[in-house]
Amino acid sequence: MDSCILRVAIPSPLRRFFDYLPPAAQPDVAVGCRVWVPFGRTRQVGVVAAVADRSELPPERLRRVEAVIDPTPVLPPSVTALLYWAAGYYHHPPGEVWQAALPVALRRGEVLRPPRITRWQLSEAGRAVDPATLARAPRQAALLARLAAFPDGAGSDELAGEGDWRGALRTLCDKGWVVPIEGAAVVATAAQPGHPLNPEQQRAVDAIGAGLGGFAAFLLEGITGSGKTEVYLHVVERVLAAGHQVLVLVPEIGLTPQLVARFRRLGAPLALLHSDLASGERLAAWQAAADGSARIVIGTRSAVFTPLPRLGLVIIDEEHDASLKQQEGFRYSARDVAVWRARQCAVPVVLGSATPSLESLANAEAGRYHLLHLPQRAGGASSPTLRVVDMRGLSVREPLAPALETTMREHLQAGGQVLLFLNRRGFAPVQMCGGCGWVGECRRCDARLTLHRREHRLRCHHCGAEQRVPEQCPTCGSSELVLLGHGTERIEALLQERFADHVILRIDRDSTRRRGALEGLLAQAQAGHGEILLGTQMVAKGHHFPGVTLVAVLDADQGLFSADFRAPERLAQLIVQVAGRAGRAERPGEVVIQSRQPAHPFWSRLLEGGYRRVAADELAERRAACWPPASLLALLRAEATGQAAPLAFLEQAARLARQIGHDGVDLMGPLPAPMERRAGRYRAQLLLQATRRSDLHRLLAALAPALEGLAEGRRVRWSLDVDPLELF
Ligand code: ADP
Ligand code: ZN
Ligand code: ZN
Repeated sequence: MDSCILRVAIPSPLRRFFDYLPPAAQPDVAVGCRVWVPFGRTRQVGVVAAVADRSELPPERLRRVEAVIDPTPVLPPSVTALLYWAAGYYHHPPGEVWQAALPVALRRGEVLRPPRITRWQLSEAGRAVDPATLARAPRQAALLARLAAFPDGAGSDELAGEGDWRGALRTLCDKGWVVPIEGAAVVATAAQPGHPLNPEQQRAVDAIGAGLGGFAAFLLEGITGSGKTEVYLHVVERVLAAGHQVLVLVPEIGLTPQLVARFRRLGAPLALLHSDLASGERLAAWQAAADGSARIVIGTRSAVFTPLPRLGLVIIDEEHDASLKQQEGFRYSARDVAVWRARQCAVPVVLGSATPSLESLANAEAGRYHLLHLPQRAGGASSPTLRVVDMRGLSVREPLAPALETTMREHLQAGGQVLLFLNRRGFAPVQMCGGCGWVGECRRCDARLTLHRREHRLRCHHCGAEQRVPEQCPTCGSSELVLLGHGTERIEALLQERFADHVILRIDRDSTRRRGALEGLLAQAQAGHGEILLGTQMVAKGHHFPGVTLVAVLDADQGLFSADFRAPERLAQLIVQVAGRAGRAERPGEVVIQSRQPAHPFWSRLLEGGYRRVAADELAERRAACWPPASLLALLRAEATGQAAPLAFLEQAARLARQIGHDGVDLMGPLPAPMERRAGRYRAQLLLQATRRSDLHRLLAALAPALEGLAEGRRVRWSLDVDPLELF
């Protein structure tokens, strides 16, 4: 008998593949096909990662694959190669890495069928209806108007909108104005012309265009509104004309509806891949990418593993954004994987940002990335001016400086919108007893509870635990409970008093919990309905608010004193990104930063030299302190319900590392995590630092599998994070 062995990636915490014999009736199974296999006492879906001619297992212990699910591979060789690289680079169990590349439906073993999903189209009668006559049913009117733009029908991707749009769609179907059709997963809309490019944009497009057909990495650094998206679109046009596909990675789809709309302008079939899609829709979009019918694929992190038979270009928008890094399970950086994929496929990759990460700037300095610069706003809008408002001398109970209030009134009077940014939701972050000093703390975390006044709950923002708001102090019975600090909910209440005749829109996780609520608020804000917009980081990203002329950062000091070496980089990025929301149209913008540390050198650097100056100084400091990108990090984390076990496990890990030999790698710790207890578990960490990648990876390659065998490892949950962004 032919001794062909299938090496299968099966979801499991072990850093290895599992060998099986092919089904007797089907000896030839290709790499990339899914198979049902017996696994312990269960049955699992695995993916064939390699075909070998011998196994380390004795023949009598080799089990047989129960069934082959796919007649042809669902993962092409190029994706299999990418997954091998990723499993090796992140030292992660391959079964989980292969899982990450598959839509949920395929992980469950569903059989692939031709990708057809329900789409909706206007009927004859529907085309005759004037949406304006539906003033009482705005959602129906909006859907009708939107459907008119899609003569071949639109899927839920194109139609999803404010509130219960599915209900409105059902009503339209009942009325006979809209008919469901079985259609292809992706359709093209009519192409529309773009802007003629300015000289800087043209230079960028030409440079990237000259790189088509081979690997090259471009860092497109352009201030917000400088026309980066327009550059992408022009390059993409060329790639599409050559018959190729484009992969666009974005940090969060929900925050970039405008980006998606602009890519539709190219008139090419476009597929969206993100976690808000229903499983069937996601599978259909994935298939459309994999069979080549989708020419543009826009997606979040895991889209980086999508099969793309005719890939011609990779774009990573907002490349500095931490959301591109998966923070749990298989902790990969979609940006870094994408760059590797572009190299492997010999296509160019464009990393775009107004505030590039220090890692990417260092790569540009080293000549690995070509730096392209868009220094001016496109379309003639001028850049906003920044100033710091001194909050010293003002009561800590007062969240708005008088100078800011005055400026707000001036802008409102002139017809501008005002955007206030505060990265703290809820009403107040601390409830304290005036009698004995008790503060509301989470029972399961080393953290305080935030008061949410409307729901009348105390909530933990780390584990989600919540409880009733006490009427009296639980320790001394005093009824003198005071609220310290300000969250967005409290600022909103204060604005409602002080700016009573203005419309205020609060945009944060609490005000956008309902499906479609965010889109609704954003649409109102963009249409200029809210005069004062108040938001958390949700408003810092991606959106254009053309009417906003004043942006204020209410509490910028949090980032100045953080122990995290990335804090200044993050703070500068955040401020520049929020500032970029101002004055995008004809009116110039103004940015006010409130600080109780106005003399901190960070501010003069940012105000005088902009993001680039902060970045240059930070890069120098990182080099002096030997932090990334001047060094490489890996973080070994452990957690357990008891306090001792994680530290004991990490001590053991450190001993093991010393036995293996850790030349060129510093072991720092183990130490308790900065927030040691979270959701009832104690956490600790061991940091590994190296200046040479090869040293770090040599150690991890031996250490990670060895950790699986440690007895201490059974009493903790542990994980390895290569290139961690958060040091807890
Ligand atoms: P970014 O992606 O850098 O934020 P965009 O591409 O969104 O910038 O451009 C900002 C605004 O300027 C958009 O409204 C866009 O339509 C417009 N724009 C971009 N390029 C040009 C151009 N060459 N001429 C006129 N307007 C432009
Ligand atoms: Zn008390
Ligand atoms: Zn908690």
